[in-house]
Amino acid sequence: MLEQGYTIAIDGPAAAGKGTISKAVATHFGFAHLDTGLLYRAVGRRVLQGEEAVSAAQSLTADELEPGDLRTAEIAQAASKVAVIPEVRSALLDFQRAFARRAGGAVLDGRDIGTVICPNADVKLFVTASPEVRAERRYLELAAKGTEISRDQVLADVKERDARDAERSTAPMKPADNAVLLDTSDLSIDAALARAIEIVEQNLPGA
Ligand code: C5P
Repeated sequence: MLEQGYTIAIDGPAAAGKGTISKAVATHFGFAHLDTGLLYRAVGRRVLQGEEAVSAAQSLTADELEPGDLRTAEIAQAASKVAVIPEVRSALLDFQRAFARRAGGAVLDGRDIGTVICPNADVKLFVTASPEVRAERRYLELAAKGTEISRDQVLADVKERDARDAERSTAPMKPADNAVLLDTSDLSIDAALARAIEIVEQNLPGA
């Protein structure tokens, strides 16, 4: 086990494959994993229930981060709306940084991990894919869960969320200067995972 915190930052837009890659990288290296999108989704859900965003972020608890019911298209949109509010982002900062420093290593995935949350991360990946490929993946995921939504609607949602995430003034989604870009548009899941693990391995202490 690594005595000191070892942090892997994985950022990128919705449905680029970063969730799958982050989970697999964490399992491969025996690190803990935090999907930071769940924090914004949990705040978004509370706002949909009528709460004010900043106080929701300030009082969020770990037991609200169960992914099961947070992965709906409606909560995704609500999450990206609360994510533009600087006070929401700052309320969620300490939790993410403490997670990143835990002994034994940590993988965090999100939009601003390599740029704002963990600028000193040991390895940074920016996982991307074309909007059309990402929308098709998200459509298949939602359809498998029985959600009634059209491909066109999913593509429109993906593009709307990309624009909001990339254009906000606080912590916009963008690759860190020293991030390794991984475009998964033409890669199978296995090939993308293999490439991600290879990139991390090249950067491990003693590599
Ligand atoms: O990754 P996921 O799709 O679950 O994220 C939902 C929303 O939360 C994103 O569209 C983005 O607006 C926001 N988010 C963020 N910063 C992060 C993770 C997610 O702004 N680190």
